[in-house]
Amino acid sequence: MTKVPCPICKTPVNWEKQADTRPFCSQRCRLIDLGEWLDESRRIPGEPAQIPDRTPDEDDGYRHD
Ligand SMILES: [Zn+2]
Repeated sequence: MTKVPCPICKTPVNWEKQADTRPFCSQRCRLIDLGEWLDESRRIPGEPAQIPDRTPDEDDGYRHD
């Protein structure tokens, strides 16, 4: 019988028995993988959501040459 490791938890899975969830051992692992996928695709177009340390006000106050 063919066994494959679940991509998520590495549990050996009987490939033929797990037609619904393969290559995962369970629906849960399948959903975890799906969640990671969604997370990945969300990151691709994402810009770093970092707020600059200085506000424009503070920046203006810095210019005291
Ligand atoms: Zn698993």
